[in-house]
Amino acid sequence: MLRSFTSSAASRLRATRLTTGVSSSTTATRAFSRSNVASHARSRTTSATSTTTLSLASRSLATRPLTIRRALATITDIKGATATYPKTNPEFTTNPILNWHTFPDFAAIKAEHVVPAVEILTKQIEATFQERSKRMTPTWEGTMGLTQDLEDDLERASGVISHFSRVKDSPEFRKAVEAIQPMIVTISLKMGQSLELYDALVKLADNKETWSTLDKEQKRIVQKAIQGMRLSGVAFGLPGDGNAEKQKRFNEIQGKLAQLSLTFSNNLQDETKAFAKVITDRKELEGCPESLMKAMAKNAQSRGHGDGNSETGPWAVTLDYPTYIPFMMNCKNRDLREHAYRAMVSRASKGEKNNEPVIDEILSLRQEEAGLLGFSSYGALSLSKKMASDVGTAKDILDRLYEATLPAAKKDLAELTEFAKDHLGHPTPLCPWDTPFVEEEYSKDRFKYSADQISEYLPYSRVMDTLFEVARDSFGIDVTEMSAGDQSKAGLTTWNKDVKIYQVKDDASKKVLAYFYGDFYSRSEEKLSGAWMDVCVTRMKDPVSGAVRVPIAYLVCNQPPPLSGAESLMKFQDVTTMFHEFGHGLQHMLTTVDYPQASGIKGVEWDFVEVASQFMENFAYEDKWLSRMAKHHKTGEPMPQEMKETVKKSKQCLAGMAMLRQLHFAMLDLELHTQYKPNSGETIFDVNRRQAKKTTLVTPIPEDRFLCGFGHIFGGGYAAGYYSYKFSELYSADAYAAFEEQGASVEGRKRIGRKYRDTVLAYGGATDPKEVWKEFRGRDGVEVDALLRHSGLLSSP
Ligand SMILES: [Zn+2]
Repeated sequence: MLRSFTSSAASRLRATRLTTGVSSSTTATRAFSRSNVASHARSRTTSATSTTTLSLASRSLATRPLTIRRALATITDIKGATATYPKTNPEFTTNPILNWHTFPDFAAIKAEHVVPAVEILTKQIEATFQERSKRMTPTWEGTMGLTQDLEDDLERASGVISHFSRVKDSPEFRKAVEAIQPMIVTISLKMGQSLELYDALVKLADNKETWSTLDKEQKRIVQKAIQGMRLSGVAFGLPGDGNAEKQKRFNEIQGKLAQLSLTFSNNLQDETKAFAKVITDRKELEGCPESLMKAMAKNAQSRGHGDGNSETGPWAVTLDYPTYIPFMMNCKNRDLREHAYRAMVSRASKGEKNNEPVIDEILSLRQEEAGLLGFSSYGALSLSKKMASDVGTAKDILDRLYEATLPAAKKDLAELTEFAKDHLGHPTPLCPWDTPFVEEEYSKDRFKYSADQISEYLPYSRVMDTLFEVARDSFGIDVTEMSAGDQSKAGLTTWNKDVKIYQVKDDASKKVLAYFYGDFYSRSEEKLSGAWMDVCVTRMKDPVSGAVRVPIAYLVCNQPPPLSGAESLMKFQDVTTMFHEFGHGLQHMLTTVDYPQASGIKGVEWDFVEVASQFMENFAYEDKWLSRMAKHHKTGEPMPQEMKETVKKSKQCLAGMAMLRQLHFAMLDLELHTQYKPNSGETIFDVNRRQAKKTTLVTPIPEDRFLCGFGHIFGGGYAAGYYSYKFSELYSADAYAAFEEQGASVEGRKRIGRKYRDTVLAYGGATDPKEVWKEFRGRDGVEVDALLRHSGLLSSP
């Protein structure tokens, strides 16, 4: 799952983290988008199909070395499968993308395995699905029971590939991913448009007698499956009201959209990599902190300039966020900032890698897809799957926040402008390339500490220990890193020597609940920037033997690797990012749902899935935890009180402007997906400018084409869904308010923590989010004031 997007450079400590894009999600397509960083399962979620029967474990475990089988026996050992299919092709036993059930053998996976794995798997799945279609019946076993293993196999294989494409990128891997894209789309469509399955599901839901045999979770899974199949175009094939022409066109659109999203992301990544402004005179970089100078010297070296010496240079300003953001915040050289800014907002917007026509085609195909399915716009289609349920509700929420935010944002800008004039002698009015810099100076002046100074007190290992302590204290779980010895005894491998494996246990019973892989250090040559959580396997329980396969997650971020024995230091915004991703991880790992179709983050509504993550961020600001994690990396001295106050207050500093920026993206996204008509005379950039009149205070420059880099909505799954960040945040703030209401009561907080674990974290996608909310919070609605209060926007005039 991704963090929200910050275009004109995030600002100060609290800047929301970058990120590129997210996964694509319709039930029909399981497109890979490389910048598909998000993953809260969406890309590989609930395809309309699914089911019981977990035969896979016993089958594929049989082919792994004995040591692994023994090690895993305690946590999986799933037997008693009711549906299996023959895997006679040797690839199933020799190809590491296919030959695993719980822990992939990451060390063995290479680009050359991708195409044969997907070719063989999709062929086998198609044949099996076709054969099983003949015996589908309106029962749980006769529908979900016949598709679950197929879905799981497909998800695990495509999940590993998509994970590798983000952490082990190479030209060979990219090519392989492009080659398998159509195969994945085709098989997903075939299953999503199966008339036999659809017919059986609808009959199951319509028949009172059979329906009453299902439990509540199964009912929701079936209903969601039916909805998913409708959105996958199953109705085009129905006798009577079917339409073969429409179906053909719909399927074409799915294939094209998957391809276009990949093109969008590749163009963006190539263009981001292509820009480098090499500087040889250190004076031009005045203001840049040492850590940034080091990174820029490395950037220059990797582009063939100099030897990476940060004292003598040269240095290269680049557009990857870890460089660009601190550069825009700190560099005093206004011309240079302008140069970088202009490059940033024109990425992938001209020449061969121009994303404008790609975006127009995407928007026009999405509109056509929505029309084919009977929706008035793509926005209406997208919202029909979400908690907000219609465009009007999403817009209302955004409007309410906008009303509360605008006066505060205006006040923020006025203050900044005055500060720039009086304290910095800086020209005004401020331009877009000035605001991050002036915001940082303002923040330093107000709080006396820079982000870099604060990071001296945030050594990576202490932050992680504290995060796990929060989890123990609040939710009763125990997180331990597996030793190298234990890993090798269990036969577990990773994709890089720095990747760690963690075991998550219930603190009271010591029962193993989950595992996760932690890939924390940046490797710019092969790993995407940003931070994300993704799914390796989902929890499932064998209905016959009762054996459970525990969930496994990936937690990925881009900390600078520690240099020669020194600790890697974290910026506070990276700390909150880590808490955020871990929050997603907890929802995936602490699920108690037995059905893989809806366990963990799978099947959670897109606009509710950011609740668990944003909720976790709150703990990083709590005095208790901040004091625990913040110790000087060299002296071990606790963080001075004033600095802690800085960190805590930073959340509210210039919060109006920050909120307005997110509202701009969210409203623009909805506008593009409900009102915009490609080729109607108005361009996407015109729409941005039109929207900007309402939602930006520093007018975008005429050349602003940032939309060509808006990966969330064009390279990932946030199309007509960017509002989800704010929508979820309303809930996460209100959820955290439940803790605040307990005041200093340790018992009270523990009780709420347990309740949170037993509802929001446990129910996954198997319960309607409105019910989950009601059970946790004890009331229906969400209180908007909690978010406004946390952001310091309540008292604004
Ligand atoms: Zn997230």
